Amino acid sequence: MAQHLHTIGFDADDTLWQNEQFFRMTEAHFAELLADHAETDRLTERLLEAEKRNLGHYGFGIKGFTLSMIETAIEVTDGKVDAQTIAKILAAGREMLRHPVETLPYVGDTLEALAGRHRLVLITKGDLFDQERKLAASGLGDHFDAVEIVSDKSAATYRRVFADHCADAMMIGNSLKSDILPALEVGSWGVYVPHALTWTYEHADKPEMNPRYREMTDLSGLGPLIQEIEGTKR
Ligand SMILES: [Mg+2]
Repeated sequence: MAQHLHTIGFDADDTLWQNEQFFRMTEAHFAELLADHAETDRLTERLLEAEKRNLGHYGFGIKGFTLSMIETAIEVTDGKVDAQTIAKILAAGREMLRHPVETLPYVGDTLEALAGRHRLVLITKGDLFDQERKLAASGLGDHFDAVEIVSDKSAATYRRVFADHCADAMMIGNSLKSDILPALEVGSWGVYVPHALTWTYEHADKPEMNPRYREMTDLSGLGPLIQEIEGTKR
């Protein structure tokens, strides 16, 4: 049945631009710094535990990640980590906050084609400054009618952002847990665009039985999908 999609929400990190690769690079550097104290696998595990533990205190993003690296360094060295190593970890975190913004394929053209026809909303978590910086550097800001930098993405988040239009809204993103499942829960469409690198925390089972769930390899499929839903496909 044809319907007009009023609002289309886009995740930012690893949906519009590269992100996780910078975390992986920094993790590899972190493992080198602490190679004398812990095996890489074990260190990665401890770091993930620290990140999960700290989400409720620091929220998502690079600042919390940096603090979790320091906490993990203290743990695995039994409190003996030297100030120089801490300084290197802090520098690695600051480096992440300066990383170049590399948009993913079809992003610019897709947003341009949809702008004006739907209300486009960017919905992202992470550090406020960092997300604002990346949006400005991406040159994509003008396509969006609204930008929501939120502390977490739950059903309540989508209910608030999509408001009266939950049933005629769509969310697009690379995280099943944050972008897709909660959007489906409020009755919206959920379009999963997997990225080769996705943080373990964001993994979840695919809701393949949900009629409003779709998956595509990149954003080039989005225009045709919207035409199909709206019954305007030629
Ligand atoms: Mg993402």
